[in-house]
Amino acid sequence: MSIAGKFIEKLDRNIARYACVKSGDLVFEQPVVSFTFDDCARTAITVGGEMLKDKGVSGTFYLCGGLTNGFENELPCQTEEDLAYLVESGHELASHLYNHKRCADLTGDQLALEIGLSKNYINSIIGTNEQLSFSYPFGSVNLRAKRMVSEQFLTGRGINPGLNVGRLDLSCLKAYALYEDQISAQKIAFLIDMAVKKKGWLIFYTHDVQTLPSPYGVTPKTLEYAADYALQENCEIRSVAEVMNSFR
Ligand SMILES: [Zn+2]
Repeated sequence: MSIAGKFIEKLDRNIARYACVKSGDLVFEQPVVSFTFDDCARTAITVGGEMLKDKGVSGTFYLCGGLTNGFENELPCQTEEDLAYLVESGHELASHLYNHKRCADLTGDQLALEIGLSKNYINSIIGTNEQLSFSYPFGSVNLRAKRMVSEQFLTGRGINPGLNVGRLDLSCLKAYALYEDQISAQKIAFLIDMAVKKKGWLIFYTHDVQTLPSPYGVTPKTLEYAADYALQENCEIRSVAEVMNSFR
């Protein structure tokens, strides 16, 4: 790619991060916290999903159909039995494209194909045709992807940190990484306290949930601390779709 091409691509990425494609004014009666899992590492399901279920709440699992029985970042991803378990447990199955590609690397046609495959796959598992939630693989966004996501999904979730409050960019919801190496109990408490004070919607994202997590995962202890602290502070814990459907 030429230098000019690279510059335009970078500019597009930067504009896309801040340009609001699909906005909505959502007023929350109670602060809300969502726990989201990208790539559907098996431990996210068997440990994280199980933990949230035991607390009577739901999480959002952004999965790639092409990773069923496969690996991402050397971690085993979902099996079909895992997906059935998530559905039975009331968790949300959501799209992360079919083949875990960076949106900014795809042409419009390639992205449309990825979206179509992903939606068909997930709908075949949940057995409905509801609008799905989406998260951008690797947090890769550009304006075209945001436009397509806003047309094809209920919401898109990115990796820009921030609380979702007031006028939200529904095509790129803000979220904080719940990565063991980057988070602490103090920071979790600070973020949840902020959600309470501002009556906003705090979204966490992570990958695997295990005692020795990958650099993109979290320990069960930290996940449990975050969930318990949110409940203790009278936050609702809801999946992304549950939050959005409460406004419909
Ligand atoms: Zn991913």
